[in-house]
Amino acid sequence: MAMRPDEIVAVLRRQIEEFETKLELEDLGSVLMVGDGIARVYGLEKALAGELLEFPEGVFGMVLNLEEDNIGVVILGPYEHIKEGDPVKRTGTVVQVPVGEALIGRVVNPLGQPIDGKGPIKTAKKRPIEAQAPGVVDRVSVHQPLQTGLKSIDSLVPIGRGQRELIIGDRQTGKTAIAVDTILNQKDQDVICIYVAIGQKASTVAGVVDTLAARGALDYTIVVSATASEPAPLIYISPYAGVAMAEEFMYAGKDVLIVYDDLSKHATAYREMSLLLRRPPGREAFPGDVFYIHSRLLERAAKLSEELGGGSITALPIIETQAGDISAYIPTNVISITDGQIFLESDLFYAGIRPAISVGRSVSRVGGAAQVKMMRQVAGSLRLDLSQYRELAAFAQFGADLDRQTQARLGRGERMYEVLKQEQYKPMPVEEQAVSLFVAVNGYLDSIATSDVVRFEHEFLDLLRKEHQELLAQLRESKEISGETEAALKKLTVEFKKDFVS
Ligand code: ATP
Ligand code: MG
Repeated sequence: MAMRPDEIVAVLRRQIEEFETKLELEDLGSVLMVGDGIARVYGLEKALAGELLEFPEGVFGMVLNLEEDNIGVVILGPYEHIKEGDPVKRTGTVVQVPVGEALIGRVVNPLGQPIDGKGPIKTAKKRPIEAQAPGVVDRVSVHQPLQTGLKSIDSLVPIGRGQRELIIGDRQTGKTAIAVDTILNQKDQDVICIYVAIGQKASTVAGVVDTLAARGALDYTIVVSATASEPAPLIYISPYAGVAMAEEFMYAGKDVLIVYDDLSKHATAYREMSLLLRRPPGREAFPGDVFYIHSRLLERAAKLSEELGGGSITALPIIETQAGDISAYIPTNVISITDGQIFLESDLFYAGIRPAISVGRSVSRVGGAAQVKMMRQVAGSLRLDLSQYRELAAFAQFGADLDRQTQARLGRGERMYEVLKQEQYKPMPVEEQAVSLFVAVNGYLDSIATSDVVRFEHEFLDLLRKEHQELLAQLRESKEISGETEAALKKLTVEFKKDFVS
């Protein structure tokens, strides 16, 4: 049956109307130009900053720049097939990552997709990578220790759950080693760990993953990795993805440790992205932007109040310095945002003092409140001995004649530095740390040759582990060196010294 012209017009009109509503629902835009992982998209005026957009073949992009007549989008995946005029769909959601227990033990990219070949991650829960940090009333001050297992940190720059402590130093000074040892030390401590590898070489990341796996630490750890060969936007979002995963646990009342290795490379990725988006990355904009991207990230570490479940996120951001310069703007930014810093020095590292922690320049502003009592008992004299040593050592370099007291102090200091040395991958339980430091600060090492100090420490601890477990258990449980324990320890030390062959 033939249609009358007015009928045809009506049908067409209806179709056009429907077509338009459909368009509005989907919010379809089109690619204006594309290159270097960046697209400019036209026709998506309603898109939100941070929103996910879908390009052909299921590739996603994230809205970063909202401009008057177009938006700047970073493409989070392969972009070679995307061309001018391609349709772009709004998804209505911001970038999200899968979260939950299923991620533990896995290595994922910043979108939460597995890259360890162990199959899909079964979790329905997701969280946006950008989220509001807990407010002041939601937080309580740090009051529970997070033991790193490293003598020099747990005694002198103690870290508490919910704290943000920066690890800063030049290339190859043992920054990653400190973070990894801290993760290893969380075994059986009910702390979930997240290691975010930001812009590192794939081989370096694989090394860390192997270490964690070989030492049983992957059982409670998530690794988020965007290697240096990945597009800058993926590197840029990696720490936010990591902290979103951490938040899921924190808000469930659990304790989380997150390592950002490292934020210098994060700043570089951001700069690259800004240049591609033609944001003004000039002197006036970039430092401020970087301050903002890092503070926004580190604010999300917190110790929550009991009403909110008491969970925590402890953050260990890492910064690489150039020739020890901590006054460049990225280090100063992060120093000002964190609750203290562990400063590593190349000179110490090469002199064999490892971990190469500069005692004088490292601080922990809040962790003291969380330090276990037995550590506090030994740390006071340790700090004093070390600072006296540093003053005198500078002076002694001039070859002055030294009186006996000065010589004794120098000798004590040297032995302290020996005791603070610690091999990689050997985090120590806090009671053993306390024993080592107790022996040193009470002068029992003064008559031992400096070169024998490390062996003395190892053999003495071995003896305690084998024959005096009850003493170690007592320390572990009471968390303090009572008068009785002190007497017992002193007696054991004196006896052990008699038999010690130097
Ligand atoms: P990069 O700047 O390349 O990231 P980094 O500062 O993270 O380096 P690491 O990779 O942790 O440094 O360590 C550098 C080297 O020093 C490694 O070979 C590591 O095995 C060694 N090392 C680190 N800590 C110790 C230690 N306590 N004792 C002995 N060797 C150590
Ligand atoms: Mg490193």
